[in-house]
Amino acid sequence: MTYISDNIKKLGLILPENVSVVAVSKTRSSEEVLLAYKAGQRVFGENRVQELISKKKLLPEDIRWHLIGHLQSNKVKQIVSEVAVIESVDSIRLLSAISDEALKNGLSVDCLLQVHISTEETKFGFLNFEIEKENWTAVAESLPGIRICGLMGMASFTDDSERIRTEFRSLTALFRSTRDRCFKDKPCFREISMGMSGDWKIAVEEGSTIIRVGTLIFGERIKHI
Ligand SMILES: *Cc1c(COP(=O)(O)O)cnc(C)c1O
Repeated sequence: MTYISDNIKKLGLILPENVSVVAVSKTRSSEEVLLAYKAGQRVFGENRVQELISKKKLLPEDIRWHLIGHLQSNKVKQIVSEVAVIESVDSIRLLSAISDEALKNGLSVDCLLQVHISTEETKFGFLNFEIEKENWTAVAESLPGIRICGLMGMASFTDDSERIRTEFRSLTALFRSTRDRCFKDKPCFREISMGMSGDWKIAVEEGSTIIRVGTLIFGERIKHI
């Protein structure tokens, strides 16, 4: 499985310095994750709470785990002390639940707001106008257990690269307008998490600061989730 470390090194050579990589390890074994770790990768992403927690137990403690899949409010309790970032926050109610739980644990949890940028119905996230109409300065002030660090989005699953580009471009525009409107003095609001194995190059061209790639590092997934 030397391809895992080769892929990580290759990606490190071509990626601009300001773009970081979340290695998406869903469905992969802890052995595969460890190979990536040994090649220098420290940030991993899982889309399911249970899988993240059980994998985390088997792996080095300095790994930073990102939750990138839909989070149900009844799982907030389990996940809050396990993750560095929750990228998939799709309601203020959830944000508030995360903050409450974080405070109970004496923590502050970094969160990204997931935005629905694709035309597909199945994907979670805030709609554009919901981000635009909200006073995020007030939201952030009322929730001391979280830090809002940026936006996350998934483009449509399509071969039409111009459509993908348009969707990423709209996320970057939304990020900038939200930052200027609500996070002027908050340098922590700085991340645009967009780009997966099939579209990360377009995402980087359109301003991504975090790409989330699984297949590109670990190869094709057998199980599709
Ligand atoms: C699975 C997944 C990815 C990575 O997918 P690849 O195509 O394997 O790179 C990125 N983001 C989310 C939210 C995912 O669920």
